[in-house]
Amino acid sequence: MLSRTRALQHTLAMLMGIAATTALGAPPAGTLRVAATVYPVAYFAERIGGPAVTVEFPIPADVDPPFWQPGIPDIIALQKADLILLNGADLEKWRARATLPQMKLVDTSAGFKDRLIVVDNAVTHSHGPGGQHTHSGTAYTTWLDLELAGQQADAAGQAMRRKRPTLATRFNTNLDALKTDLATLDRELKTIAAEKPGLPLLGSHPIYQYLARRYGLNLQSVHWEPNEMPPETEWVALKQLLARHPARTMIWEAEPSLAIAGRLVKLGVHSLVFNPCGNRPADGDFLSVMRTNVENLRTAYRH
Ligand SMILES: [Zn+2]
Repeated sequence: MLSRTRALQHTLAMLMGIAATTALGAPPAGTLRVAATVYPVAYFAERIGGPAVTVEFPIPADVDPPFWQPGIPDIIALQKADLILLNGADLEKWRARATLPQMKLVDTSAGFKDRLIVVDNAVTHSHGPGGQHTHSGTAYTTWLDLELAGQQADAAGQAMRRKRPTLATRFNTNLDALKTDLATLDRELKTIAAEKPGLPLLGSHPIYQYLARRYGLNLQSVHWEPNEMPPETEWVALKQLLARHPARTMIWEAEPSLAIAGRLVKLGVHSLVFNPCGNRPADGDFLSVMRTNVENLRTAYRH
């Protein structure tokens, strides 16, 4: 009797152990583990994979992915994944310092290398805890062109099918639904921009290159931060810019401070948010953020 009881206890303990491990987030054996290094790509993998896939996105919420500096534990976590989905377009500048298994790496923008935008002679600016930075080199917010975002989703789907051929049908169904959502946003943006072709717009930060190209936006960017009052020289330069580019809207990554927004209003410039969503949003997901962006942009074309 005793041994049977102990055997039962042992089994129970084992089961509880498995349950505890699962609750702690360790994926059950056989689950495809995907890591992504920019949020839009992580979102695509989550949509394609559904419950059959674990998607790890290791970048803290307050870090802009292009400025992420992975520590050793981050690199080890990436190495343990079955697949590492990169944005590419030179977003992952940390890659030069990290050894990752080539077989697991997928550059989701490799399929449109010839359509990447290279920025020359960008101004270096200094601000905040991140210090100086420039936007010279390859522009990386590829997913703001929703057609390119669809291609990145395709690349993610292809890599996931290769790793789990038995789930290919399920992945394809999910990928199709995702691509339908992306195509809807793409069409809406095209329709909005076509209402006033050439409407002058301002960008607060030089990160909207792919958005401007895809949707034909007449966009000129400054290099400002939403919570940092630009110095007087910047305001002088803005007035000069407005003289030849009479924009009435500035597109921001996040809501600008009241002081900045108020001063812009005096120049006849209203602010709106088009969040690039490079990191996981506090509320909603990539799709809901993009839907809000589209609605925000619509107001600029109604003025
Ligand atoms: Zn910048």
